[in-house]
Parts: sequence; structure tokens; C-alpha cells
Amino acid sequence: MVQLRHLLIKKQMKLTSIQWANDTVNPHMGCAGCELFPSAAKFLTAIGNLLGELGIRINVRGLYSRLINEYYNRIACPQLGHRNALTTTNIWHLRNKFAAVISRLHGRPAGRRVLEVIEKTLVCYAAKLHLNRGANILEPLRKRNVGYAPTFEQLTRFPGRMQKAAQWEDLRECNDADKPWLKGLPRLIFVSDMGDSFSSKGQFDYIEKEMAAVSSENGQRHLWLWLSKRPHHMRSFSERIGGFPPNVCVMTTLTGPDTLQRVDELRKVNASSRGLSIEPLWERIPPESLDLTGINWVIVGGESGSRKAARPFEVAWAEELREHCRKHGVAFFLKQLGRNPVEKGKMLQLKNNHGGDWSEWPKRLRVREFPAYFRQYRG
Ligand code: SF4
Repeated sequence: MVQLRHLLIKKQMKLTSIQWANDTVNPHMGCAGCELFPSAAKFLTAIGNLLGELGIRINVRGLYSRLINEYYNRIACPQLGHRNALTTTNIWHLRNKFAAVISRLHGRPAGRRVLEVIEKTLVCYAAKLHLNRGANILEPLRKRNVGYAPTFEQLTRFPGRMQKAAQWEDLRECNDADKPWLKGLPRLIFVSDMGDSFSSKGQFDYIEKEMAAVSSENGQRHLWLWLSKRPHHMRSFSERIGGFPPNVCVMTTLTGPDTLQRVDELRKVNASSRGLSIEPLWERIPPESLDLTGINWVIVGGESGSRKAARPFEVAWAEELREHCRKHGVAFFLKQLGRNPVEKGKMLQLKNNHGGDWSEWPKRLRVREFPAYFRQYRG
């Protein structure tokens, strides 16, 4: 009987391949961007810097604007998401056209280098899905997936998704053979993997309404892992509502020492538990610079993506952060080694293309822990 129930629950599970959660839910799709989805201005600077290094003088902004204008004006009937503007989405979609002009004027190697820079600069997985499924001025007749934002930059509300998620089955008694480390935990729902609800303070009224699902009788059975790269907005929101409910773990992302200020902001969020997702880790974070006061959980991972574009991930960076967590009694979770893991100067060859299958790792690296609070908060 118990087995049958587990089978039924498994069938209903809206599984995510993300190792540290059971499911994901997105009250918003889209985002105002971050270092993984830079603004158009940052893209243009990166391209301009490269061309400068190659000794090519060109008005990058002017050339891109002309291309966008040309393709936009070909659309007979522009739809939601088609914009005649210098946006990151348009820069991405027209990257081959732009590179073709550079190749024609300055040779193919220069065009190739431009493409490489553009593809290396845009890393956000959620954005890439939007770029493939949202509006594209190059393919104006392509059907847009209505479950997505029209373009990634357009933060779009999807009311009711949290309410539905609250009704999902309780998983505390369920054992998922694919993720044995989740055993005995409540259902872990990753909120906002396809955008950032806290992109703007203008969303607070809406978020507050959606949050009712989290505190509802059904919602309290689950633990909601809410991630944002704008913990300062989370902080303001938590002050407005008198603190997040006890079944929300607030989280932020670090990619290297430049983003450490987010930890200080996260500490100020009024919440019962806090987590750091240090993924993709692009640059070593010296453990002594990572203050873990008030932090319950640390997730670490290397960058996914193509072999060419993903930055190398030194396994030693994860190991020293693991030891740092042990010293401070913080749960540590090694999510993945990334596309290009390096150990003692040698590239590790793994079958799993983002290095997320821990059966391929040396035993000492297989650490996937959760804060004790996650098991205890329900009593
Ligand atoms: S969804 Fe997250 S990773 Fe992607 S651009 Fe927004 S903040 Fe950055």
C-alpha cells in the first residue's frame, strides 16, 4: 500500500533535475538581469573591448541598432515581445548577423571571436530557454510559448502557480531513488528558477498575494526555497510583511568575491533560514572572506554549458568551502562540478555534461547535506 502511494506520488511529481529540490515554481517568468544575463550596454562594452584589442574601430552600438531596426521593420504585424530596441534579447538573436558583418569587413577570425564573446557573456539558463521559446524578431511568425515571458527582460506575472504548488502531495514519507539525499525531508520547492520575482519593488503587492499559498494549510507542508540575486529587495519585502513564514528559506547566489556583498544583505532578511547558492563559481572565494553568520546552507557548483564557453572550476575551491562550512556548522551541498572541472591542473573527464552525477566523483566529494532546520521546522 505504502509502495503504491509512493508510485502515485512519483507520477504526480513535477520533477526537476536540480539536485537540491523536488520541484520548481515561478510566480514570475523573466528578470531584470544580473552578471549571468548582462544589460545591452555591458554586452556592447564587451564586444567593443574585444574589437579594440583586435585593432578594429567600429561603432558597435550604431551597427547593432541598424541591424535591429532593419529586421524589426520587416515584421508586418509586430507581436508581444517584438521590440525595436537595443535589448540583450535582440543582441542575442542577431548575433550571427552582427558577426557576419564583422567577418565581411574584417575577416572571419574577427567574426568568430565576436560570436565567442557574446556566447560566453550570456550564461543564465532561464534566459536561454526564454530566448529559444519567446519572441524573436528574426522569426516573427514563430509561435511563442505562452508559459514564458514574451522576452526575458519583461518580468511577467503568472498568478495562481504558487497556489497550485501548495496543493502538491507531501513528500516527507516518500523516498526518491534518484535523489536519495532528500530522504525524510518535506517537499522542497525551488521558487524562481526561471526569473527573479524580486527584480523590482513594484512587484511586492503581487508577491504578497501569492505568498498566501505558502502560509496556507497545504503550503505549510512544504519548504519553499526562494532564490533572488536581489537580497536587498527581499529584505525590504520581509520588513513589509513582518518576516517570511518559517517554511521559507531565503537564498541568494554568489559567483565570486565580487558578489560577496549579497551575503550581508541576505543576513538582514527577516527569515528563519538562509542559503547561498554558489553556482556557477567562476572565481575562488577565499573562505576567510565568506562570513557564514546567520547562514544555514551552502550549495556549490561549477558552470554548465559548452566545453568552449564554460569557465573552469577548480575542485579545490569547493573543498575549502566545504571545510569552512564544517568549521561553522553549516550544511554543505556539492551540486555539480560543471562542464570543465579541474583538479591539480588536470581537466577531469566526466560523462555527465555538467558534472552533476556524483557516482562519477571521488568519494570524498560526495557531500549533499541539508540544514537540520529543514527536518525540524514541522515538529
Ligand atoms: S534569472 Fe537569475 S541568473 Fe538569470 S538573469 Fe535573472 S538573476 Fe540572473
